[in-house]
Amino acid sequence: MKIIIAGAGAMGSRFGLMLHQAKNDVIFIDGWQEHIDKINRDGLEANFNGEKVVAKIPTYHQEKASEIDFAADLIIVFTKAMQLDHMMDCVKTMIGEQTKVLCLLNGLGHEDIIEKYVSKDHILLGNTMWTAGLEGPGKAKLFGDGYLELQSLDENGEATAEKVIAVLNEAKLNAKYSHHILESIYRKACVNGTMNGLCTLLDSNMADFGETSAANQIVLSIVNEFANVAKHEKVELDSKQVLEQVRSCYNRDTIGLHHPSMYQDLIENHRLTEIDYINGAIVRKGKMYNVPTPYCAFLTQLIHCKEELLDAK
Ligand code: NAD
Repeated sequence: MKIIIAGAGAMGSRFGLMLHQAKNDVIFIDGWQEHIDKINRDGLEANFNGEKVVAKIPTYHQEKASEIDFAADLIIVFTKAMQLDHMMDCVKTMIGEQTKVLCLLNGLGHEDIIEKYVSKDHILLGNTMWTAGLEGPGKAKLFGDGYLELQSLDENGEATAEKVIAVLNEAKLNAKYSHHILESIYRKACVNGTMNGLCTLLDSNMADFGETSAANQIVLSIVNEFANVAKHEKVELDSKQVLEQVRSCYNRDTIGLHHPSMYQDLIENHRLTEIDYINGAIVRKGKMYNVPTPYCAFLTQLIHCKEELLDAK
């Protein structure tokens, strides 16, 4: 399959590398010049479960996308949420009749952005539990296992989506079709909507935050705001199940001693966060549906203050 990875950061590198290893024709499109130059010069280097792997994957700057002659069957977008609109604008001329666009970003409402550029029958919306990191330009760190679920936005699109799923599975990406993708997306956004912002602002790992006396009440309030908004989108978010998932993040023997990715992006690397697409999305949707969301609103504002204080880019 001819595949474009639009946004070849940590996750784009993982998916691109695994699809390339499974003999697909893969190209990268990205906006980070140093990263693009390094990959084109030395190949993408990955620490892949402890083994050094180098892959020659042609990599282009997003601003030159309209000049690339590549009839893609699949475009996997893997930007950060706030970069998605511009990336779609860059790659829009590469979308043909046969092209599907798969979105696996964290957060809510990405389908509204993608639909500005391409009709529903081209769009696959998904959610992934794979993880990835970047150690520097052209250098990825890919550990562990994962899976993904996806759904076509076209109600008659399941059969075509299955062809994409087969290609993803040949690359060992463990994909399956979901008939309730919004539910999974909301559940993950809700877990991120508690741990990410709070641990970032409080400069805390997840286990230490979980042991504070107010943790339970704050988390419960945020989860209820997500659940109340989700109802208006025909999504029944099981608050009990989400709370269990949040509490499992406090476990010191598994992931509790880690800081969430938002902490790494903002506090360690002074990069802008995806807060507007997590808690911020709940605030916007809450206004639309007349649902109060004071905790999400306050958290979103505080994260933006921190971004300004750190001059995040
Ligand atoms: P990323 O920050 O690694 O990459 C996103 C874009 O930012 C890429 O275009 C990349 O080239 C660019 N970029 C990265 N570092 C840069 C730097 N130092 N300077 C300039 N540009 C830079 O993002 P990601 O972790 O691949 O995440 C993509 C999407 O997938 C997000 O929505 C994220 O929430 C989601 N996601 C991430 C993970 C994960 O483990 N990383 C897991 C599941 C979902």
